[in-house]
Amino acid sequence: MFFFLAGSRDYKDRLGYVATTCPECGMRGLFTVEQERKKFTLYLVPTFEYSKKQYMSCPYCLEDFEVAEEIKDELASRLISQEQLTRAIRNGKLDKLLARPKPRRKKT
Ligand SMILES: [Zn+2]
Repeated sequence: MFFFLAGSRDYKDRLGYVATTCPECGMRGLFTVEQERKKFTLYLVPTFEYSKKQYMSCPYCLEDFEVAEEIKDELASRLISQEQLTRAIRNGKLDKLLARPKPRRKKT
C-alpha cells in the first residue's frame, strides 16, 4: 500500500507590538503582531511555504485583523519589540508608547 500523505502546517511568530486604535471596539492599545506561515508538508515533513500572512490582535476584544500587504512596511517601522515594551513598563512610560504620534508643527 502506498500512502501519499500531504498536508499543511501553521507556524506563528510573534513580531512585536504596535500601538493603534481598534477598528472593531474603538479602544486604543498595544496590539500583538504575528506572522503566520503555512507550510506544505509531505509525509509530515514541512517543505515549502505557501502562505505568509500577518495578523494584529486587539488586546480588548481579541479580534484578529489581517495586515494588508500595502501597510506591512509602515507597520514594521512602528513595531515595538518585547524588549522595548518591558523597558517602557519598567520605567513607567507605557503611556508614552500608547500616545498618538504628535503631528509635526509647521515652521513659521
Ligand atoms: Zn478591539
